[in-house]
Amino acid sequence: MDKFHYVSYAQEVIFGSGALNQLPQALERFGQRRLLLCTSRSQRDNGHLAALRAHLGASLVEVYDQVVPHVQNAQVDEAYRRAAEKQVDAVIGLGGGSPIGMAKAVAAALDKKMTGVDLRPAPPTDQPLVPVIAIPTTYAGSEMTAVYGITHSDEKPPRKVTVSDPKCSPKLVIYDPELTLDLPPELTASTGINALAHCIEALYSITRHPLSTAAAASAARYISATLLRCYTHGQDLEARSGMLVGAHLAGLALSSVSMGLHHGLCHVLGGTANVPHGIANSIILPHAIRFNAQVTAVQLLPAAEALGIGPDGHGPVPSVQAAADKVAELSRRMRLPQQLRQAGVRKADLPSLAELAFQNRTVQNNPRPITDAAQIEALLQDAW
Ligand code: NAD
Repeated sequence: MDKFHYVSYAQEVIFGSGALNQLPQALERFGQRRLLLCTSRSQRDNGHLAALRAHLGASLVEVYDQVVPHVQNAQVDEAYRRAAEKQVDAVIGLGGGSPIGMAKAVAAALDKKMTGVDLRPAPPTDQPLVPVIAIPTTYAGSEMTAVYGITHSDEKPPRKVTVSDPKCSPKLVIYDPELTLDLPPELTASTGINALAHCIEALYSITRHPLSTAAAASAARYISATLLRCYTHGQDLEARSGMLVGAHLAGLALSSVSMGLHHGLCHVLGGTANVPHGIANSIILPHAIRFNAQVTAVQLLPAAEALGIGPDGHGPVPSVQAAADKVAELSRRMRLPQQLRQAGVRKADLPSLAELAFQNRTVQNNPRPITDAAQIEALLQDAW
């Protein structure tokens, strides 16, 4: 790694049990007064929305609490319409990656309205007119990145499009492990594997750099030490806290490197076959590790070590193959689906999914070059 190039984003990050209480003071520093909240119904049901409302008072001028997975374009349009009407000046995303993605999409649309400039390749250090505030309640990591996906569900087949815009990286991130205590076991497991996948893809990324590697290796250790505990004992605040640190570091690693085959495939499985993001991650990750093992084993050793696999004297490739088995075993222990067929994917759709993935930019950035959609289809057949 004698050359590297990356962009980092100015963000205020507040982490700790009870950190949500610090939101009003933090907002004072930002000066925003007219807030839109994007969230999902689960946050209304579990009381987090009410807690946030109590903190924000009259500055919360609009709530969109119907966000569904994979950020649907019709929902973005509706939330944007309401935000524009209320002259919103900052957008909060509370929940998993979908509400946070929705907050980014709405903030970008408001920015476009104010400047009259369409999404353009903004200078990497450009600052937003309408900042995003992220309060994550899963381990998906979107709060640390300058990227969001929108699913165009009116297209046939539906297509998830990724937008990169440095201005949408959340300016304030509040991590409060108490908000994750009621994350149900399946979502704990699947979004936790999503965080582990960020570590794997950051470690072998073709654009990795010293900071992304350090963050990913450290994240893998936190995740390995705490994910199963969070799954079996959801109310264990210490484990929840460790897991959220892992998710934060994994998101930080993800934010500044290009992802590869795993990420691109999960994207297509989510947007087109409607597989929940974390479930797609749990099924695909062991296959992606095996697919890349020959060319990335050295880079993946820190993750193997974090998963408890020591050097076996046969070189890095067997260790990394063992790590892939360990990831599959971890998913199995957390009762996550192991095969695409269990997630509702039809065998007949595998060739077209492979073709779509082949066109995906992140797949083209995979460390082991992918020259033919048939390579992806073979992996999907294996995973089916
Ligand atoms: P999600 O946001 O789609 O939420 C999944 C489900 O979890 C929803 O039903 C939600 O209501 C529920 N949920 C969330 N928090 C809960 C809680 N505390 N208690 C009970 N239920 C809760 O899922 P996700 O896996 O967090 O995010 C996936 C989405 O984020 C995908 O669209 C993915 O592409 C995107 N993503 C983006 C990035 C990025 O860098 N931009 C990174 C990771 C994921």
